[in-house]
Amino acid sequence: MGHQDKLVLGADIGGTKIAAGLVDQHGVIRKQSRAPMVAAGEPQEGLAAVCGAIETLLSNSGDRPKIEAIGICAPGPLNPETGMILNPPNLPIWQNYPLGDELRRRFAVDVKIDNDANAAAFAEAKWGAGRGYRNVFYATIGTGIGTGIVLDQKVFHGKTGAAGEGGHMGVDIHGPICNCGKRGCIETLAAGPAIARRARQKLSKYPDSVLREMCAGNPQALTSHMVAKAYALADRAAQEVMQETLDLLAYWLGNIVDLLEPDVIIIGGGASLMLVPFLEEIRARWKGACLNPAPLDIPLLPAHYGEDAGIAGAAALCAME
Ligand SMILES: [Zn+2]
Repeated sequence: MGHQDKLVLGADIGGTKIAAGLVDQHGVIRKQSRAPMVAAGEPQEGLAAVCGAIETLLSNSGDRPKIEAIGICAPGPLNPETGMILNPPNLPIWQNYPLGDELRRRFAVDVKIDNDANAAAFAEAKWGAGRGYRNVFYATIGTGIGTGIVLDQKVFHGKTGAAGEGGHMGVDIHGPICNCGKRGCIETLAAGPAIARRARQKLSKYPDSVLREMCAGNPQALTSHMVAKAYALADRAAQEVMQETLDLLAYWLGNIVDLLEPDVIIIGGGASLMLVPFLEEIRARWKGACLNPAPLDIPLLPAHYGEDAGIAGAAALCAME
């Protein structure tokens, strides 16, 4: 790594692992490594795991590169203003923990913190598929649906940092109960597990579905990826599930268009690969479903960053112009 590079360290802290990377001023991840995270125990053990991951990355990167800042993305809720981790259900080791201050003290650089979807949204807006657009709406679709809103190059945080939870917008007041406790959130209707659940429910209607073979007769083993595969084989059950999923996502994103009228909408996350071939179909459903007079002027694009969205996102939080 040359001396002209301005490197930022981005660390993506999850419930079981830490992914850390050195990211340059163009958003290119130059070097990365993974380490286990400690989910429960003393808060200091969690800090030690993060510091260890950062140290390992730095000492394995030639003659220890100088870093300008550290960006962190972590499970919420957290306060991006103060760098406090509040009470994350996926990371119970930290309760009201001043992670930002601790890391600042340890590494003597500026530290920025945000939740994973906000951070990934910012990386897309700055360096990825949203580059050049003023206002960006980003959704990561995987086991859940996380979203981030970037307005005029700034993540929109709301009053306390809790804004931008578009995955928990209700689209069906009679729908199933979501992990968050609310009913009928888009997450509980269109994320990976919901796609698998709806496929499971189709098996009695379509006893000849290829999905039955794919899960070896065990419906509990059905995954959204099997639905995508079965769809490619023109399986009727999979076709129905996909059409329902596209209807739901289009309805939800149509609401987003009417609320925000973003310049671009970007879809990332683990389930996005199966959705990418259908992005134009989702957009086509906006016609007549949005109050907005020109919803089809808003591009719906696949994310630039894949599995590394967390590292890029964390780094983007503190990347200088
Ligand atoms: Zn919810």
